Amino acid sequence: MLVHPARVTPLAAAAPRQSGPVVYWMHRDQRAADNWALLAAADLARESGAPLCVAFALAPTFPGATLRHYDFMLRGLAETEAGLRAAHIPLVLLPGDPAVVVPVFLRERKAGACVTDFDPMPVKGDWLAAVTASGVCALTEVDAHNVVPCRRASGKREYAAATLRPKIHRLLPEFLTPFPELPVFPATNLAGFAPVDWTAAAATVTADPAVRPVPDIVPGAAAARERLRAFLRDTLPEYAARRNDPNAGATSGLSPYFHFGQLAPQRAALDARDARPGAPEGADAFLEELVVRRELAENFQFYAPRGDLYEALPDWARKTLAAHAGDARPASYAPREFEEARTHSALWNAAQRQLTRTGRLHGYMRMYWAKKILEWSPTPRQALATALALNDRYALDGRDPSGVTGVLWSVGGLHDRPWAKRPVFGQVRYMNERGCRRKFDVDAYIDRYSEEKCA
Ligand SMILES: Cc1cc2nc3c(=O)[nH]c(=O)nc-3n(C[C@H](O)[C@H](O)[C@H](O)COP(=O)(O)OP(=O)(O)OC[C@H]3O[C@@H](n4cnc5c(N)ncnc54)[C@H](O)[C@@H]3O)c2cc1C
Repeated sequence: MLVHPARVTPLAAAAPRQSGPVVYWMHRDQRAADNWALLAAADLARESGAPLCVAFALAPTFPGATLRHYDFMLRGLAETEAGLRAAHIPLVLLPGDPAVVVPVFLRERKAGACVTDFDPMPVKGDWLAAVTASGVCALTEVDAHNVVPCRRASGKREYAAATLRPKIHRLLPEFLTPFPELPVFPATNLAGFAPVDWTAAAATVTADPAVRPVPDIVPGAAAARERLRAFLRDTLPEYAARRNDPNAGATSGLSPYFHFGQLAPQRAALDARDARPGAPEGADAFLEELVVRRELAENFQFYAPRGDLYEALPDWARKTLAAHAGDARPASYAPREFEEARTHSALWNAAQRQLTRTGRLHGYMRMYWAKKILEWSPTPRQALATALALNDRYALDGRDPSGVTGVLWSVGGLHDRPWAKRPVFGQVRYMNERGCRRKFDVDAYIDRYSEEKCA
């Protein structure tokens, strides 16, 4: 058995077993190496003597996603296909609504079993529900995205990092283990499967082309591994002290690769652990973000009730924001003014330009950026909607549990505690430009993302 059983959750029991292949329906963890879901499918295929194929359903649109995201994903997938074919595993691309095209594919191929990725985002829940309901074959979900599988880390919604951290740390020795190699299948496993035509695939996408791809973040597993190597070699010793300085280049820049599953967080965690003797503080701080904070976000997304995110904020935060709903705002902007970086603040506008032009926004600036959207929006609900929409539309790593919790933390005190009262914020933690000036060279940041330099 290649995969820890706690990663594996049966979603639909086997109907009478069909004669066809084991299908790994890949949607979140889009990589050939270091992928527990693919390894589980490979195990199942070898055990039953069935062929193995990977299916990827390409939805023509996805909530919040634009050409920027599809371009990054499709170029990464082309590389993944090459990695799979090297192990004689075909990748089949199914253009269309995954809730429809996956059951059709499983039925046509008489699939013996289907293995798929764990993903707590609601849209994926809808896809999984449809494939489960189709009842074509046994369906199994594998958590290939978390170091400690989300269900195993905790059986309930955690209050804060402080409550999840000890659970994660206790389980790390059991789950932070090396990945086995992907087994190579006989060459006959590829028979009848032509390589994907990626140009034709891209033509089926109808996502908004107005948000252009970002040329300086190279997609794919190889680029991700190179970024990880460079970060651990050159930057890890600086990470603990300088990660909150947006001018320092001290963070990993790995989040788009994690989001699209081009790099396993577990690979980054294993390699950071290996690098720890040379940079113990940096490694510990990085592992805290990568494992505890990221997996806290997964915990929230998995256990929070579906629907109105505002209602998922802590009671104290909703009460304090309601008590300050009538406070005069120092400024008030419509979503479009935020989007076009037309506020009175040169710092905020620079952050917005970093986001729209480069597809990323430094983690510290993300907090400031979202908190000012709260301060300058007519209501906290509108602030939440604006911050989520802008984050998802422009950030390459958007539409992710870490984005949802990051915005809810900033705007609504999720996973935080009450602070001293302030206008508009109530007891939600406040941030301002003066605080930024104490931490980093604000003028250098503004200059770097000035209108002229970002034109
Ligand atoms: C308003 C707001 C919006 C955010 N939106 C997103 C988003 O859309 N997608 C996203 O992946 N993260 C988001 N975050 C969390 C965090 O800011 C990013 O993960 C981080 O900036 C990514 O850059 P990096 O890979 O260089 O991070 P590093 O500092 O190098 O951290 C390594 C990894 O740890 C994880 N991580 C770091 N900080 C956090 C955090 N606070 N919460 C959860 N995981 C964390 C990420 O996976 C990250 O790649 C958001 C935070 C805020 C406050």
